Amino acid sequence: GAAQPLLAVRDLHAWYGESHILHGVTFDVPEGEVVTLLGRNGAGKTTTMKSIMGIVPARRGSVRFEGKETIDLPSHRIARLGIGFCPEERGIFASLSVAENLTLPPVVRPGGMTVPEIHTLFPNLRERASSQGTKLSGGEQQMLAIGRILRTGARLLLLDEPTEGLAPVIIEQIGRSIRALKEKGFTVLLVEQNFRFAATVADRFYVMEHGRIVDTIPRAELEARMDMLHEYLGV
Ligand code: ATP
Repeated sequence: GAAQPLLAVRDLHAWYGESHILHGVTFDVPEGEVVTLLGRNGAGKTTTMKSIMGIVPARRGSVRFEGKETIDLPSHRIARLGIGFCPEERGIFASLSVAENLTLPPVVRPGGMTVPEIHTLFPNLRERASSQGTKLSGGEQQMLAIGRILRTGARLLLLDEPTEGLAPVIIEQIGRSIRALKEKGFTVLLVEQNFRFAATVADRFYVMEHGRIVDTIPRAELEARMDMLHEYLGV
């Protein structure tokens, strides 16, 4: 039969206190694909990523990674399985240099990229190796945030709005990097407001509304379903 997806999310619910935010999210991330979650502000995209990582206060349902159920695991154990989360705020250490930021993350499983490999992917990081985190441009911070995850050996990368606030030329560079990572066999789950960008990297799109996945659009159907997508996204 069909290969099992790298990540299988089934009937996932999540709460912030009394607020029930995810109402049964179900989708697959097949190995080697770039998958994008689309949806209006507040649809629950970030909460879905945080629920996969186990960093929402309360969650229920099923999240299987490589066939293994993770719903009852704490976030550090989930990370150690090989899932890397790059949050919207990027989470780099501002007071440390680029080089220190890259060597600090613990390697969670074999196959983590070496620093020279990361420099090949993001040449800016080589040039800025001794710069402090605070001195970096937004694009460089984003590259560093992704680079840190690549060090750990994570095979599934969760990227929350990696292009937010970046100049078009930098967005193109991030896009090339994501395509290069796909070539290397990485799997990517992306949250994006920038649909034009997502369309250049993604194999599959899931549309979220009110804490649920309401539609799936394979890349091949994107053109034909553009009108519907505009309606979903209110653009
Ligand atoms: P955005 O692009 O605005 O981040 P999103 O689709 O990622 O949109 P989420 O950030 O997942 O949406 O938010 C979903 C809902 O959860 C929103 O109604 C939001 O107000 C609420 N929410 C998010 N974080 C918290 C929190 N820490 N405490 C309480 N409610 C929250």
